[in-house]
Amino acid sequence: MTPRGWAVLTLAGLTVALLVAVALLVPWHRPPAPRADQLAALRDLPAEQVARARAFRGALRPGGWAALAVGLLVALAVGLTPLGGRLVELAARPFGGHWVAQAVLGGLAVLLVADLLTLPFAAWRQTVLTRYGLSTQGWGGWTADLLKSYAVSAVIGALALLGFYTVVRLAPRWWWAFGAAGAAGLVVLLSFVLPVLVEPVFNRFTPMEQGPLRTELTALAARDGVPVRDVLVADASRRTRAVNAYVSGLGPTRRVVVYDTLLREATPAEVTSVVAHELGHAKDRDVWTGTLTGALGAALGVVVLYLLGSAGPLLRLAGVDSIAEPRAFPLLLALVTVAGLVTAPAQALVSRRVEARADAHALALTGDPATFEAMQRRLAGVNLADPDPPRWEYLYSASHPSTVERMAAARAYARETGR
Ligand SMILES: [Zn+2]
Repeated sequence: MTPRGWAVLTLAGLTVALLVAVALLVPWHRPPAPRADQLAALRDLPAEQVARARAFRGALRPGGWAALAVGLLVALAVGLTPLGGRLVELAARPFGGHWVAQAVLGGLAVLLVADLLTLPFAAWRQTVLTRYGLSTQGWGGWTADLLKSYAVSAVIGALALLGFYTVVRLAPRWWWAFGAAGAAGLVVLLSFVLPVLVEPVFNRFTPMEQGPLRTELTALAARDGVPVRDVLVADASRRTRAVNAYVSGLGPTRRVVVYDTLLREATPAEVTSVVAHELGHAKDRDVWTGTLTGALGAALGVVVLYLLGSAGPLLRLAGVDSIAEPRAFPLLLALVTVAGLVTAPAQALVSRRVEARADAHALALTGDPATFEAMQRRLAGVNLADPDPPRWEYLYSASHPSTVERMAAARAYARETGR
């Protein structure tokens, strides 16, 4: 069998594996709370709060979609014309066009161009956040964050580009197989190291200070049977007033993180409710689920790129002979960008299902739906979340159930358990 035949077979195997993983690991059986309950919850929220949140989201919307559109157009413009290939050559020219320079500098140059052209939208977003009082950051801090994120992307990007094009040179016929394994490995590696290598670049993390709340949270984790070494507090207040918490990392790097803003804004019982949700993620191994599906998706993506990349018309448009040469990186980027936009609704749907399960976990663990609902109201109020966002936007990009869905879920739990 030819490498191409093996690639088709691998594609089929990875597709089945991804579908099986998503079918088995994502909680599909739990339907959202009835719409009537959601609308009742919406009526219970202060009209002024809802109006302000909707004004805020409405102000962010045009820039958000414009950034997506411009990002797509730039990716297509450099990927489906010889422009991108020329940019790669230009970046490598001071180094005599050496393939390492083409691969690393050329690749980073293409990524930088795409980033810079969407930069005005990011800046505009920051002005909206400031206008609504959600950002606590001046332009200095904002620029520092931006440069840090460029630096982090450049390091990860350079390693990935160098690794990829080295494999292509060493195994010109089988690079897709090593590339797929490498991409999957990179996703797993990043899940392990992001919390310890990347997150500290942007925030300082300190163990939650001793006191009744810490004792309560530790007891909660013990009761839940989830080994959590520590609850960390992130100094999120240096850039935002928004409140949040999350769990990240795998095995030895797993941690539950709460924003310092959450400790400041919410009552201890509400913080407990938030942490109970995060413990749900830990208990149900949601980071593993995300890592596994992400790794399968990445491997699948490499094989798809290899198969699509042998299509003559695409190569002719990009002015390259093979998808495997560094000058074809802009074409790869265009295909990846399109894939990201097309699969976004599926990723959001999976995320919402997983988040709803963590909510159910929090309700069962605390047995306190009233506080859970109060916490949801506070989250929406402080973060200026639209409690019941437009349907199309929800379906395309919402990573969490809406506030009214979460409130209705708490009420359904209260009804079922008589609390
Ligand atoms: Zn969550």
